[in-house]
Amino acid sequence: MRKFNFCAGPAALPEPVLRQAQEELLDWQGLGCSVMEVSHRSPEFTQVAETAEQDLRDLLAIPDNYKVLFLQGGATGQFSAIPWNLFGGASKTADYIHTGQWAAKAIKEARRYGNVNIVASSEDQNFSYAPAADSWQESADAAYFHYTPNETIGGVEFPYVPEVKSPLVADMSSTILSQSIPVDKFGFIYAGAQKNIGPSGIAVGIVRDDLLDRALPDIPRSLNWKIAADGGSMDNTPPTFAWYLSGLVFKWLKAQGGVPAMAELSEKKSALLYEFLDRSEFFSSPVAKESRSRMNVPFVLADEKLDKQFLSESEAAGLLNLKGHRSVGGMRASLYNAVPLEAVEALVAFMADFEQRHG
Ligand SMILES: *Cc1c(COP(=O)(O)O)cnc(C)c1O
Repeated sequence: MRKFNFCAGPAALPEPVLRQAQEELLDWQGLGCSVMEVSHRSPEFTQVAETAEQDLRDLLAIPDNYKVLFLQGGATGQFSAIPWNLFGGASKTADYIHTGQWAAKAIKEARRYGNVNIVASSEDQNFSYAPAADSWQESADAAYFHYTPNETIGGVEFPYVPEVKSPLVADMSSTILSQSIPVDKFGFIYAGAQKNIGPSGIAVGIVRDDLLDRALPDIPRSLNWKIAADGGSMDNTPPTFAWYLSGLVFKWLKAQGGVPAMAELSEKKSALLYEFLDRSEFFSSPVAKESRSRMNVPFVLADEKLDKQFLSESEAAGLLNLKGHRSVGGMRASLYNAVPLEAVEALVAFMADFEQRHG
């Protein structure tokens, strides 16, 4: 039996997608073998790749002057690749907003290759909010401006898109496809697939094509966006199964009503949980109200001695993976696109009952 899965990543996938993959696993498209066992250059797989790209373009309304890349190495591979791809132009300085653990890792990578200007940080309040735009000082000549629209671990989401002078770069790993975004405001968008797209092993990159000419001369081939773009993301063998499955998720998203439907659903799901947390005298959210994530909802119990019991009882009730990140403790419910409203209803009912018994 499938249970409700609140894992932060790799996360829940839509059940109809898994069923389709299961159905066609042994004999895909009448070829007598699985999708994993054909050449990535075969006409059948080329079709998978092209359809996945077009569906993603449709879902996010990606303009024609952007390339869509399917990459390896996860989001980590991409925040490592960003300085390599963008510091070879006129500037080796980049602006970064520091909002928590993922921003910190991205900053650390960029510092290896250039100067990092921290334009704003929420460290003063334990990374529990998204800094307001009026406080920061942009560099005069930044190669790019990087931020993390949704900090998956802290559960902090920017309620706005920064307006900046240099190309805006965003790690959308845990928020992509959950609301409409003005793609034309960004220079580069990237996301590891395993939160809101598909299985781990593939990452999506969306790059404005005028940014493909400023790589550092020594850039490793496998990190080079231009090579990826020119080769249809097939300079080397891509993760074909993850690509195929991501394509099925895009089709599923379209059938659900696309990104607007997901935005509405994510509002509903997260509001249900936050309203409960705010009413409760036993559970609470550590995140500032205006910066609360729709995708990752951390929460704490009034008595942390009950954490273990909460986790074992919730698991027994069919609510999986509610343990908070090992670095912050407490609980976290991730409410990505594939998590249905019923899952959140079941979670809130369980929490109300737990509070009644232990509060
Ligand atoms: C999960 C996550 C990452 C790391 O992704 P990998 O694919 O494991 O490298 C980076 N940034 C954010 C915001 C994430 O949620």
